[in-house]
Amino acid sequence: MDDGDERPGLQDEDDCALCSQEPESADHLTEISVFAREAWFRVLAPLGLAQLALQQGTSITGWWLSSRARLRAQLRKGFDSLLILGAWCLWKERNRRVFDGISQTPVVVASMIEEEADKWSQAGYPSLAELWGWAMN
Ligand SMILES: [Zn+2]
Repeated sequence: MDDGDERPGLQDEDDCALCSQEPESADHLTEISVFAREAWFRVLAPLGLAQLALQQGTSITGWWLSSRARLRAQLRKGFDSLLILGAWCLWKERNRRVFDGISQTPVVVASMIEEEADKWSQAGYPSLAELWGWAMN
């Protein structure tokens, strides 16, 4: 969690730009960071997939594989897309902090992930729509 030590643009070289608690790596940024975990929880819980967000992982790949294995086969493609999209949004948040000194909360990043998924669905990307359609039923 945020310790209130706000240092825009002055993060320690190797610290995670999202939580400042641990060394930064791709796996940490996109899945392990407390910031990433909260964002994922807020995206997955409304889909009825909160239990996936709460799984502990040591890498994004490990989390992805064990999570998708628990999903019904027809939802897996959508989940794959959501994972890539979410990781991309978390990476963009990291870059906003490092390069622009702008920080969003996990709640805001989660809504960015949802907006992006909605755009992809409306653009005719069927697997993501299936993931959301399933949650509506
Ligand atoms: Zn972190």
